[in-house]
Amino acid sequence: MFRFCPQCRKPITLKGSKLFECPCGFHFYINPAPCALALLTNNRNQLLFVVRGRDPRKGYLDLPGGFLEQGESAEQGIVRELKEELGVALKKIRYIASYPDRYLYNSINYHVISSAFFGELSDSEARKMKAADDVSAIEWHSVKKVPVGRFAFPSMKKIVYDFRKDRPVSRWDKGSS
Ligand SMILES: [Zn+2]
Repeated sequence: MFRFCPQCRKPITLKGSKLFECPCGFHFYINPAPCALALLTNNRNQLLFVVRGRDPRKGYLDLPGGFLEQGESAEQGIVRELKEELGVALKKIRYIASYPDRYLYNSINYHVISSAFFGELSDSEARKMKAADDVSAIEWHSVKKVPVGRFAFPSMKKIVYDFRKDRPVSRWDKGSS
């Protein structure tokens, strides 16, 4: 991340795993970058995946979402990302849990922490969706049978399996068996 101190320009090294410290007084802590992601289902018990259109892990499956912007809440961030990536304006989303992961970008392996949200799409909302921004396609897969081998990031398996095991109550449950 740094090879030279941004303050005094002398060579600098990482102390432990998260602190750059220079005798001149410069301190820099490497903290995880916050992200938000969504587990979106339809009324056929399918889960939405996006195909990554950019590196890292281009062509692999991801959950929709991305890095939070400055001054933004995780809730605002996921609503914005879903609008940008899928063209969908979801009003009802529910926080589930948070998941740490790594994200390799420009040869730096960043630590990230993702807030996961749950949302449900009606048929008309699902039909209106369009892959955009850094997403090249949309895929629906049965919640019971997800293609783990195509997942872009290690944490996805746990996120999806947790969701399958401990899924929030669905609005589609009403009136169905
Ligand atoms: Zn320095």
